[in-house]
Amino acid sequence: MLSQVVELIEAKHRFAITSHIRPDGDGLGSSLGLYWLLRALDKDPEVIMRDPVPHSYRSLPGAANIRVTPAIDKPYDAVFVIECSDVDRPGLVDLEKQVVVNIDHHSTSALFGTINWIDATASAVGEMIYNLCKAMGVRVTKEIAECVYTALITDTGSFHYSNTTERTFKVASELIRAGVKPAKLAQAVFSSYRWSKIQLLAEVMASVKRDPSGKVAWLRQSLEMQERASATEEDGEGFVNYPLTCGEVEAVAMLKETSPGVYRTSLRSKGDINVARVAEKFGGGGHRNAAGCTLHGDWDEAERLIVGLLLDAVDRVSNDLEITEDALVGGRT
Ligand code: 5GP
Ligand code: MN
Repeated sequence: MLSQVVELIEAKHRFAITSHIRPDGDGLGSSLGLYWLLRALDKDPEVIMRDPVPHSYRSLPGAANIRVTPAIDKPYDAVFVIECSDVDRPGLVDLEKQVVVNIDHHSTSALFGTINWIDATASAVGEMIYNLCKAMGVRVTKEIAECVYTALITDTGSFHYSNTTERTFKVASELIRAGVKPAKLAQAVFSSYRWSKIQLLAEVMASVKRDPSGKVAWLRQSLEMQERASATEEDGEGFVNYPLTCGEVEAVAMLKETSPGVYRTSLRSKGDINVARVAEKFGGGGHRNAAGCTLHGDWDEAERLIVGLLLDAVDRVSNDLEITEDALVGGRT
C-alpha cells in the first residue's frame, strides 16, 4: 500500500524503475514521473526497460536516459514495477530476486511484490504517481507533470474511456497548473506519426471484416504488410480502435503477426463486454474494455477462435449474463 511505498523510498537510495514489455504511455509516463519524483528527493533512480521507447514517447522528459536491458544486471535497493500483471511482464531476467514494489491500477494484478500498491480506482498509474508526490510532499515539477499527463491521456483515450473520473480531471488540471501544455503533449503523442504508419494504416484497414450481426470486427497486420509499408510492428499501435468508432461495432480483435505463426492480439470493446476474460483464456489479460494476448498457429483458425469468443462475450452482455456473474464475484475491473 501507499504508506509502505513512502517508507521504503524514505529508507532506501538506489532504485530501478521498470514497466512491461512494449511499454505504452502509462508504463513510460508513470515510470518517468516516478524517476523525476525520486530525483527531487535526491535519490538515485534508473529507468530500465526490456524494449526501446516507441517513437511517440521519445520526447518525454528523461526518455533519452532509459536503459534498454534484458536483465537486472546491477544492484538496487528496490525495483519499482509499474503497470504489470505479474513478475514476468517486464521481461527482465532475475527480477524475482529483487525487492520488488508492484504499482498497478489493474485489480487483477498478481500480488507478486514485496510491497504491492494497487489502486483500481485510478484511471492510470500516472494518477497514483501524482498521489505519491502529494504523499511525499514533493512539488509537482514540469517534468513530473508532463510524464504523468502523458500517462493520463494515453490510458483514458484522451479522457474518452469509462475509467475517466472527476479525480482524473482534477489531477489533469493540477498538472496544467504545474506547466503542462495539453496541445503540445497531445501533438507529441497523437500527431507526430511517421509516414510509414499512415501507409500501414491503409494496408491494415483494407483487411477489416465484421460478422453478419455487425457487432464484432477484426483486423490483420501481417509481416508482409509491414514490409510493404516499410513499417514496424509498433506502427500498428492504436489501429485496433478504429473499427470501434463505428456505432454498431461492440468488440474488435486485431492480430499482428510478430513472427510466422505468432500473433500479438489486441482486443477492445464497449460497455460491459469483458475482453480481459477472453484474453485470460490465452494467458493474456488487461482491462474490461482493452486487453491483449498472444495466439499461435494457423491465421484463419486463430481469427475464427478469437472472433467466436468475442461473439460469445457480446451475447452474454445482450442476455445480461455478464452482469449477474460479475455481481457474484464482487465487481469488475
Ligand atoms: P494492447 O492491446 O494495447 O497491447 O493492450 C491493451 C491492454 O491489455 C493493456 O492495458 C495491457 O496492459 C493489456 N495487455 C496486453 N497484452 C497483455 C498480455 O499479454 N498480458 C497481460 N496480462 N495484459 C496484457
Ligand atoms: Mn495503465
